[in-house]
Amino acid sequence: MAVLETALLDPAADHELPPVMMSRRKRVVKRLARNPLAVMAIVYLIAVVIVAVFANVIAPYGFADRDPGLLLGSPSRHHLLGTDALGRDTFTRLVFAARVSLRISVSVVAAASVIAIPLGLFSGYKGGRIDYLIMRLAEAGNSFPPLVLAMAVAGILGPGTTNAMYALTVVVVPGLTRVTRGQALAVREETFVEASKAIGTRDWRVMAKRVLPSVASPLIVQGTVMLGGVLLAEAGLSYLGLGTRLPTPSWGNMLREGYDTALFTNPWQVVIPGIAIALTVLAFNTLGDGLRDALGVARSGPKGRSQRRGLTTVFREKAPAEVPAPDTSTLLAVKGLTVEFATERGQVRVLENLSFSINHGEVLGLVGESGSGKSVTALSIMRLLPSPPGLITEGQVLLEGTDLLALPLKSMREVRGRRISMIFQDPMTSLDPAFTVGHHLIEAQRNHADISKSDARKRSVELLDLVQIPAAAERIDSYPHQLSGGMRQRVMIATALASNPSLLIADEPTTALDVTVQAQILDLLRELQRELKMAMLFVTHDLGVIADISDRVAVMYAGQIVEESDAADVFRRPQHPYTEGLLGAMPRLHGDADRLTIIRGMVPMAHAFPNGCRFHPRCEYATDACRGGAVELDTRSGGGRVRCPLSSSLSLIGTAGDALASERVKEKR
Ligand code: SF4
Repeated sequence: MAVLETALLDPAADHELPPVMMSRRKRVVKRLARNPLAVMAIVYLIAVVIVAVFANVIAPYGFADRDPGLLLGSPSRHHLLGTDALGRDTFTRLVFAARVSLRISVSVVAAASVIAIPLGLFSGYKGGRIDYLIMRLAEAGNSFPPLVLAMAVAGILGPGTTNAMYALTVVVVPGLTRVTRGQALAVREETFVEASKAIGTRDWRVMAKRVLPSVASPLIVQGTVMLGGVLLAEAGLSYLGLGTRLPTPSWGNMLREGYDTALFTNPWQVVIPGIAIALTVLAFNTLGDGLRDALGVARSGPKGRSQRRGLTTVFREKAPAEVPAPDTSTLLAVKGLTVEFATERGQVRVLENLSFSINHGEVLGLVGESGSGKSVTALSIMRLLPSPPGLITEGQVLLEGTDLLALPLKSMREVRGRRISMIFQDPMTSLDPAFTVGHHLIEAQRNHADISKSDARKRSVELLDLVQIPAAAERIDSYPHQLSGGMRQRVMIATALASNPSLLIADEPTTALDVTVQAQILDLLRELQRELKMAMLFVTHDLGVIADISDRVAVMYAGQIVEESDAADVFRRPQHPYTEGLLGAMPRLHGDADRLTIIRGMVPMAHAFPNGCRFHPRCEYATDACRGGAVELDTRSGGGRVRCPLSSSLSLIGTAGDALASERVKEKR
């Protein structure tokens, strides 16, 4: 029931938010403050707003005051930016124009929001015919080029500031309605919305209290960018004589006047309002981008910059600690790794303060149910997590003392494949179907070594032999579709080994294979690991596989490590109730268990991690104390670490006597 409750809680409601969400506002401000471009944009926009609000005080003259004796005057002590063709002070008109242009932008976006947001919410939430009707109308509006539509409406209504506002509102409403509807569509399926409906909450209340807060972040970003767009469109209308009427200045009509009267004699009459428009639009767009990153709003459309760059973004809020001289036995040390995902509801922490290490030649098994954060951990180490949505916010990933999180892409490419290789879950999709096996293997070698194609091909055959592919010299010219699943995975392993990496990350390498092939691949990995003395991070949800291959085991649950110890200890004397549950659910051929046990409930979604011990809603040993403050990962006196203060008083059941684990354990001893 408790699990169900966590899933039903509205993440936007303050009272039940986990700490990561409660400090969100503060973190948004902090992130904005660390974005120099966003800070510059904010400073600029505040300056423009102050100028616009206090135009009467700042401007030395009235905007229509003329000095007939000084037409198109040059900048001077009395006229900072000179005078225009009618002898009016250009600085004064620029200041008053800021007021007009900003007023129009803000008014249009506000008016459009009042119309479009309720329409979009209603359309997305209700669906059906209403949605169909609203969307067809919005599409009709969007089918005209925005400026052409604004000109048409302004042409019908006639020139003037108010009419320009009406025209621009007509242009903005359809787009904003579609954006709001898209966001509402995604949220209406959420369990907390269903739960709210299930207790009889009226639709308008669900929309206002549940859906609207959840879609607010992307709408704030959209609104900020729109302010710039409207300002530009208003300048266009005024330039064409369809906007603000003279003598009232706007940046658009100043541009027009300068163009008509002084383009060749006093070009700054055109340049000055042009610069004001360009800088202000740029500032709104930059602020919108900064807000998008700070609020964790996923970018739509083309992939984000980091995604294209192929490097997970690192945005550490705390400066990382000094890197100590590496312990010679430690190959990889992950320290305090924290990863967040941008979701439609904001930034959600999926990994928290993850620390573990892998020694040279050691196999660490990373185990946990689906959704516990294992693959995110593996991808974060390689910095292959797409950004957005992934963002590394804290911690270090030290490869023999070098922090991978501080490396640029070029250096990271040197690490990938050469120092650390990775094999993925599904061999069907990991190989490019357009290229032969040989192409993949040759490419992997030539990426990191100055080696001729023929030498790389020779070594590719050796690698295929190494991973026990029969008739390697012929298979090298096969395409992936000509191989079985097991063979493809062997090719993936050969590709990963091509540059003799020190660490192999195997992310569920046997999950997509049938049981017999799984066993063969595991045997192969184990043999290769021993033969090549290579360290391995073996990620899986299958404890049976872990028993077979690992020296040490780290058990993950809900983005945290809950237990870490020698493989033998984990299987014989589990210290965490979650580990006991996983062992109880493990099928075995031998042993005294008549039937398998299950862990009731599911791993919670990252936005709904419960307070206190994250496992408490599913733990049969939970007490009130477990629901309180955060539970730390403590080092045990006998070695290993566990995240359960009650563990020493619990008699948890392991798999002693079970052949699956014990054979491996005996072998190690
Ligand atoms: Fe269970 Fe409490 Fe231990 Fe968490 S801290 S695992 S809820 S006993």
